[in-house]
Amino acid sequence: MNDLNRRDLLAAAAAIGAASALSPLISQQANAAAPATAAQAPGFYRYKVGTIECTSINDGARTFPLPDKWVTNVSKDAALAAAEAAYMPKGMVTVPFNPQLINTGGKFVLLDCGNGVSVLEPTKGQAGRTLQNLAAAGVDPKSIDIVIMSHLHPDHTNGIRAADGSMAFPNAQIMVPAKDWEFWMSDENAAKAQSNEMMKGYFANVKKIYTGIESKVAKFDWDKEVAPGITSIAAPGHTPGHTAFAVASGGSKVLIQSDVTNIPEFFLRNPDWHVAYDFDPELAQKTRHKFYDMASAEKATVVGFHFPFPAVGHVERDGKGYRLIPVAFNPVL
Ligand SMILES: [Zn+2]
Repeated sequence: MNDLNRRDLLAAAAAIGAASALSPLISQQANAAAPATAAQAPGFYRYKVGTIECTSINDGARTFPLPDKWVTNVSKDAALAAAEAAYMPKGMVTVPFNPQLINTGGKFVLLDCGNGVSVLEPTKGQAGRTLQNLAAAGVDPKSIDIVIMSHLHPDHTNGIRAADGSMAFPNAQIMVPAKDWEFWMSDENAAKAQSNEMMKGYFANVKKIYTGIESKVAKFDWDKEVAPGITSIAAPGHTPGHTAFAVASGGSKVLIQSDVTNIPEFFLRNPDWHVAYDFDPELAQKTRHKFYDMASAEKATVVGFHFPFPAVGHVERDGKGYRLIPVAFNPVL
């Protein structure tokens, strides 16, 4: 192979020239044999924490026009510049969604369950892909033992119901943070929120999803082992009971941050920016700094519900903010 010389190169060039006369025919045949797929590949990615096998399940990613006050405490121009710096489509923002499946050895645990498929709110396949990606990963929804919610926002909880309104994971116990349950199920709080369209929608959604299944719901507190190897971590601000998790086995640990930040391109780079969805933005900001100072000091692996799939990486301090270093695809476990 090493004796490639000028004469070989010339011969090769002549052969290519001859072939190119036939190339329209060849390319037509190639197109006929391999039509474009026009569909994305399944989104699931496995990683291990000690003996615990985890699977990042992609629920999709929504791309929508950046709302005027999506970041409440900076100008829209500053937010648009962050989107452009992240190569998002012009004027738009992309938000991915990634529930985590944790196989503790004895239990199949799903941490958050995505947007669900609502007949009333078609997403054109952008979101609500958790069930199809679980199926692609070989997981029967009937085999899920526990669904744990990080908080009660629609993109995390609505997947608990299938398209026809039945339970998507019929054998699962549902666990929610006690503080979130108390807050969102209160009629008094709902009444107070009627003047705020977003909050009004959130309260109505919690009612729609949880009415009739209250008895299936167990509430948990912070700093508790909520399932084997999974500990709840206080991360309030985004919602009153917003919860992160540590998954630990042997000497290994992964931090599941839930929504400590929304998308990293905005809120990890700029941890003092407030996303419109935060209930208590000042507290969310404090939680963010505390959480990432800990994660970066520990060099911990961090999983973010709104990180780009597979949503696993490390967080480092970077100037006044932080940056995400995503994992490289690992073909072996
Ligand atoms: Zn979220």
